[in-house]
Amino acid sequence: MWRAELGRIPTVGALSRRGVMVENSECCFCSAGSDSVSHLFTSCPFALNLWEKISLWCRVHRFFVFSFRDLVEVHNSGPRLESEKKAIQGVIYTACWLLWKAKNDFRFNNKRCSVEEIFC
Ligand SMILES: [Zn+2]
Repeated sequence: MWRAELGRIPTVGALSRRGVMVENSECCFCSAGSDSVSHLFTSCPFALNLWEKISLWCRVHRFFVFSFRDLVEVHNSGPRLESEKKAIQGVIYTACWLLWKAKNDFRFNNKRCSVEEIFC
């Protein structure tokens, strides 16, 4: 999570900045955005759909995240018990990991995954 927040995970955008040539720089989920931390986790319709499902499941207000930092801090918004904050944080961190894994499975193994599969 800290590496993603610093933009230090190997997205196509990060690899390009380091001089690594990658053929397709589009987001593999929506083909409309870039393969970057910002897009993949906070503005991609695929991710937004996942956050909506998670907020409903956790019975919290819908997440409005504009940066990866917002995602890291979303569990602290609203009056909640400390145990609830930790649970929401765990769910979000796990979802970020699964989203990243799904992105890599699609990009490198051509294995497409649905939001519902990630959510489940
Ligand atoms: Zn996208």
